[in-house]
Amino acid sequence: MSGATVTVVGAGIVGVSSALWLQRAGFVVTLIDSGAVGEGASFGNAGNISPGSVVPYLIPGIWKQAPGWLLNPEGPLAVRPGYFLKVLPWLMTAVKSAGEEAALRTSRAMHALHGGTLEAYDALTRGTEAEGLIELSGQLFVSEKPNAAAGSALAQRMRAEAGVKTVPLDWMEIRELEPSLAPIFKSGMLLPNNGRCKNPHQMVKSLAAVAERNGATILRGKVTGFQTEGKTVRAILIDGVAKPVERVVIAAGAASSALTENLGTPLPLEAERGYHITIADPGVAPRLPVTHTDCKFVCSPMNMGLRLAGTAEFGGLDAAPNWQRAELLKTQAQRMFPGVKLDKVSRWSGNRPSLPDGLPVLGTAPKFDNAFFAFGNSHFGMSAGPVMGKVIAEIVAGKKPSIDVSPFSTSRFGG
Ligand SMILES: Cc1cc2nc3c(=O)[nH]c(=O)nc-3n(C[C@H](O)[C@H](O)[C@H](O)COP(=O)(O)OP(=O)(O)OC[C@H]3O[C@@H](n4cnc5c(N)ncnc54)[C@H](O)[C@@H]3O)c2cc1C
Repeated sequence: MSGATVTVVGAGIVGVSSALWLQRAGFVVTLIDSGAVGEGASFGNAGNISPGSVVPYLIPGIWKQAPGWLLNPEGPLAVRPGYFLKVLPWLMTAVKSAGEEAALRTSRAMHALHGGTLEAYDALTRGTEAEGLIELSGQLFVSEKPNAAAGSALAQRMRAEAGVKTVPLDWMEIRELEPSLAPIFKSGMLLPNNGRCKNPHQMVKSLAAVAERNGATILRGKVTGFQTEGKTVRAILIDGVAKPVERVVIAAGAASSALTENLGTPLPLEAERGYHITIADPGVAPRLPVTHTDCKFVCSPMNMGLRLAGTAEFGGLDAAPNWQRAELLKTQAQRMFPGVKLDKVSRWSGNRPSLPDGLPVLGTAPKFDNAFFAFGNSHFGMSAGPVMGKVIAEIVAGKKPSIDVSPFSTSRFGG
């Protein structure tokens, strides 16, 4: 592959991981982002690095809970007024994906994508400034209800089938493991083989710096279209100006579908807005990430302080943030961590790239031989990113991918 070039659109965790794996495969890489490196969804996620994430959100039972969440202004799910009809087809497809058989298929695909995340991070970070940003901390799931933290029987079956180790905890064991938590939790589950990223933004910036040192060119500009000839993409348009390309990888997160549509493959990608607050000097120090399974948000210790992240809000890619949802996280922080100090709180919102069956798109563009798609990891992209990058580099290099990529084909949406 010596001298062959690839242009990667999007410098989030998926794009920078792709760049590094492509370099290892011998390609010369250009990485383009409309903003600064790592300032999309990869900036503000909860940093849960989860080989054991094998339970989809779309699972039997969710549609019984969802109306209650939607009606509760403090609930974990929201659709902006005026956006409901727009998102309805997406929601209808999501309903179909939440049947038992479909959910089990999704779970197996998630296992293939997430199972190797720690090894993939290790391969990319070893000997670099990003080494040490990932820790095998374990993750704690807690519920204020008895026997609830492990989820449904199906969720437990999915973890068992994937060989994910879990340790059930009663209220006293939760207290022993994480004394900073309020004594309100009645059931818990420890996933000892999951981990955390201590600073997701720093991770993406460091990996991009490694790629640059290895010879990558990093450009700032918005990809607005393509010049094509037959089944070949000849050039990308950066802010309207043509730049010739030999191969192009679309890894533009929640904005990817505008680009794939330009390449003849419209996809039902939605921006699933999430929020975080990061509390500097919180005065409490949880040892490991804690997921409140009733309220669906994560509290993660990070180098910058304590981060609370969550919420799924549908309102379109360009909707202004509703900061009220971030304010709710402050109330949650006070309830979960007695004595937490909220003097230094920053807030953020970002768009998860979400397809209605909960899986990403990963593979060659259906209408072009030299264009490739790698996006759509919704709630799990910080975990999936380094594996997505490895697999897309294998595909670009014409090798057999190391995981079965058929569940990630565009053909599931008729593409
Ligand atoms: C609140 C919240 C909490 C989360 N917690 C976790 C977690 O704990 N664990 C986990 O695994 N995942 C988590 N996620 C999900 C994870 O953050 C995302 O799935 C992941 O960051 C997506 O990465 P990406 O590289 O695909 O997209 P992004 O990070 O969004 O990167 C895409 C990049 O493409 C650029 N771009 C877009 N359009 C163009 C264009 N036309 N031209 C040029 N550049 C363009 C953007 O500027 C952006 O930098 C969370 C997400 C949110 C919102």
